[in-house]
Amino acid sequence: MESRNCPNCGAPNDPHLNKCPYCGTSYFDFTSIDIADGKPMFLKIKVGDRIITQLVYPDPDISIECNVESRDAIAHDGTFLTRVYTNVSCTTDIKFHSIPDERNHIYTIEEGERKWVQVGQGNV
Ligand SMILES: [Zn+2]
Repeated sequence: MESRNCPNCGAPNDPHLNKCPYCGTSYFDFTSIDIADGKPMFLKIKVGDRIITQLVYPDPDISIECNVESRDAIAHDGTFLTRVYTNVSCTTDIKFHSIPDERNHIYTIEEGERKWVQVGQGNV
């Protein structure tokens, strides 16, 4: 298996952890799945005290949208001196489409002992 490193400090990744054991940086490594093959997989998301579980297939149409703001430095005589980039940011969109799992559940939300299930059509 290919060894990967923390994108922040370069320490070796431990695939059993979700953050670097050395610098504490959280990381989410999507290279364990191939977005392009579209094969279904289970997605588990933690939102506060809730855990959401869904069977999904990844949308291969991902997008990375970047925004760059800049200011030009101009001399008194109007000569362009340099361009200073003041804000560079990107938004990465990866979509997952939910499908019914083997129990016909579209999603399950767990919060402690409580559990919510959204049942798919045709088997209510
Ligand atoms: Zn690190």
